[in-house]
Amino acid sequence: MSNHRGYRDRVGLSGIPGLGALLRRRRRREGDLHQGPHPQGPHPSPDRRPRLDGVPVDSLPPIVPEVRRGVRRRVTVVGEPVVHRPCRPVTVFDEALGTLIDDLFASMEVAHGVGLAANQIGVDLRVFVYDCPDTWQVRHVGHVVNPVLEVPTPQEGPWQQRSEGCLSVPGPVADLSRSLSAVVTGVDRYGRPVRLEGHGLFARALQHECDHLDGTLYVDRLAPAARAAVLRESESIRGEVWASWDQRAQELGKQADVGQGIL
Ligand SMILES: [Zn+2]
Repeated sequence: MSNHRGYRDRVGLSGIPGLGALLRRRRRREGDLHQGPHPQGPHPSPDRRPRLDGVPVDSLPPIVPEVRRGVRRRVTVVGEPVVHRPCRPVTVFDEALGTLIDDLFASMEVAHGVGLAANQIGVDLRVFVYDCPDTWQVRHVGHVVNPVLEVPTPQEGPWQQRSEGCLSVPGPVADLSRSLSAVVTGVDRYGRPVRLEGHGLFARALQHECDHLDGTLYVDRLAPAARAAVLRESESIRGEVWASWDQRAQELGKQADVGQGIL
């Protein structure tokens, strides 16, 4: 999933590429340090430490080791079959799975994303990664294999109406209603159990990434006219978005053999 603030906020109307990454790093620092009460109410847990694979840790580096190890891969776009069909469950927990997770992290970081599913780099396996703040600016980083999503029904729990974007529909964002909270259970790259509890943007990301693994894009949840408008806008500005990713790749020393814009 792209940063919910959207591409315009990342590059700004002044068109300053890299500003988004700067803002994101700043939000991460604020998230790690944030101690005050949130206007949306008390945190369900007083523990504001960042979470790695759902487990509180004392600190996380701004750029996690997976990003350093991983290779930048081209992010697939709407219209490519691999993003429109359900992914296969992972049955083999080997070194290649670890490499896939590293590559997902590197590709997500290059694209200023807060989440990325395996079929977004062309691999139809049920895996996604994330680096995303929640309602209380607690930073959540990790991966999950074979995730199972649990969300309250609209009758049971509050929903949030906020903007959402996707790295496979580069550029625009659109308002979409999602559950305010979500729980994902699954396993990690070694097959150990993982449980993720999301609220706010992180809950949105969990729902967005689980949708990807079922072959559903957020635009598929929009009304037809809104979907068409988002796709038109993406067509017109995706080149500019990809150029900003190329610049971020250079900053990170992540040059791909094939540029993002070449399909
Ligand atoms: Zn997406």
